[in-house]
Amino acid sequence: MKNDSKSESIDSFDELDLSPVMRSALKRAGFSKPSPIQGQLIPLALDGEDVIGQARTGTGKTASFAIPILEQLDSLDECRDPQAIIVVPTRELADQVARETERLAAGVETEIAVLSGGKNLNKQLRQLENGVQIVVGTPGRIHDHLQRRSLRTGSVWCVVMDEADRMLDIGFRPQIERILRKCPKDRQTLLLSATLPNGVRRLAESYMQDPLVIDCSKNDMAVETIEQHYFTVAQDRKSDLLDLVLEREKPEQTIIFCRTKRGTDRLYRQLSHRHPECGSMHGDMAQRERDRVLQRLRDGKLKILVATDVVGRGIDISTISHIINYDVPQDCDDYVHRVGRTGRMGRDGIAFTFIVPGEGEFLTNIERRINKELLRDQIEGFEAVAPPPVAKVEEEQVGPAKRKLNPMHRKVRRRR
Ligand code: AMP
Repeated sequence: MKNDSKSESIDSFDELDLSPVMRSALKRAGFSKPSPIQGQLIPLALDGEDVIGQARTGTGKTASFAIPILEQLDSLDECRDPQAIIVVPTRELADQVARETERLAAGVETEIAVLSGGKNLNKQLRQLENGVQIVVGTPGRIHDHLQRRSLRTGSVWCVVMDEADRMLDIGFRPQIERILRKCPKDRQTLLLSATLPNGVRRLAESYMQDPLVIDCSKNDMAVETIEQHYFTVAQDRKSDLLDLVLEREKPEQTIIFCRTKRGTDRLYRQLSHRHPECGSMHGDMAQRERDRVLQRLRDGKLKILVATDVVGRGIDISTISHIINYDVPQDCDDYVHRVGRTGRMGRDGIAFTFIVPGEGEFLTNIERRINKELLRDQIEGFEAVAPPPVAKVEEEQVGPAKRKLNPMHRKVRRRR
């Protein structure tokens, strides 16, 4: 595993030898210039390298692997078995990645199968039987198809592990390893992860070939453009504070994060009396219901979504103006993911975190993680409790790695 020192990041899609179809798809999608992760990852991926990209959702990472895959994909006439497998932690993210990939494929017929749990298995079996170019799915269901032999991996030349840290957190390591072992050895492997804990590094060492590491976590646009505040509040006054924050902020759309499913249900019941455009979402809800809630949020029919961290990762809805951490996330990576639901691709967003006495340590950890202090907020007439000690955040020292420019990146799909 080595930090990439091979080439410089590209500043324009014109520096790549992209097909005219892809150029017009990018134009239609409104992608005028590559985001930092795209600028670094796409040229390397087109060169056939194995790459570890440290970046979160909201930074354009889906397109960073979808573009090189689409550019090198054989047509269905040439190959009826899957050529690329994209493994993601949640069903919602699988749908989202498939949608974004379809959007970028515009103009070229591309068969994409979403293989995620909670969805109709027979439909998936039929689709695989009819021929598929790209598979996007969750580790459990992909593994299930491998065991049934309904998913053939002999033609796979690229595997993407998206949000690898999250997949390992959920406990998907055995399924991921089996998927990787089933795919041809000389495939290309791209791994995307917000963080690179030891588990992710071990996975990369075992299943990737001399991977190059690119780190876009420092210039994390999504978090940089988000105003981040905290309130100190007594536990039994949180719901009063929430009412006042909603009244003051009048959010266009907001996600309110709770720690537990029961807490989510409780808060949803309280809020839905006063706010008819309110919905809730957590892991105990049936997949169909979760999809329905997300669609209503996307369509702007829901203004408030009360949720657990199920939606904290990956969901891309650009109209979310506010994030409210009703319960402070205990894991600071969850904080980054929750807050990243707003401020997508550099848009403005605002996040509030409620801190009750005794939770100061969580605040400190969050500030260390994002290398920035959260601003203390107060609402007039609302009696705040004593603030927790504020952490000293060290200045960021690390700059982006320098690379040598490769003038025209050739498409060299690694062939067996
Ligand atoms: P992602 O991080 O892949 O979830 O992408 C976040 C959002 O940014 C999605 O709505 C993408 O369509 C959008 N996006 C990705 N790349 C670009 C780009 N180069 N320019 C503008 N928007 C982009």
